[in-house]
Amino acid sequence: MARYTGPVCRLCRREGMKLFLKGDRCYTDKCSFERRSYPPGQHGPVQRREKYSDYRIQLREKQKVKRIYGILEKQFRLYYEHAERMKGITGTNLLILLERRLDNVVYRLGFASSRRQARHWIRHGHFLVNGRKVNIPSYEVDVGDVIEVREKSRDIPQLLEALQTVERRGVPDWLELDKDNFRGIVKALPTRESIDIPIQEQLIVEFYSK
Ligand code: SF4
Repeated sequence: MARYTGPVCRLCRREGMKLFLKGDRCYTDKCSFERRSYPPGQHGPVQRREKYSDYRIQLREKQKVKRIYGILEKQFRLYYEHAERMKGITGTNLLILLERRLDNVVYRLGFASSRRQARHWIRHGHFLVNGRKVNIPSYEVDVGDVIEVREKSRDIPQLLEALQTVERRGVPDWLELDKDNFRGIVKALPTRESIDIPIQEQLIVEFYSK
């Protein structure tokens, strides 16, 4: 599966907001965005006077969500088409589908400090879903699913560190973490209110509806 392999802090600077792509570093003063919040390619903060077109605003919103969840265009488009076919509001459906990805759930439960790290570990077979090994980061979790760290993977130092700092991020209310047993349960499907990313998903719908 193709993926973005360039410097991720650059993506935060491009989008003008912290996307939390680097785990713990994002919460420290080493965060590049804290030090240089202007877009990459500029040699310092400049006062922007240009007025952004609707197209550009919608495009940036789409790029932000893709980058937060670490998804490339082709797959993102498939998620959008799936969201469109579902009942309800397309933008909300889209975010819910993305939240249900196994890599996001592993990250949300605190087993990894970023979605990128979660993806890497899932591919290496460190997680079980309902007792069976799942190495597909896009696996869609459902209500009642039990996600756990494989027994022989429970001493990975970075995983233990991530779990220690899970309180800082908090576990969303649709998931339940059993820290002692390295296990999480999907109690319900996520709702828009439980997705804490500052995104105007309607702009993405407008982008694709053109
Ligand atoms: Fe973004 Fe995290 Fe890098 Fe800060 S440290 S710029 S939040 S990826």
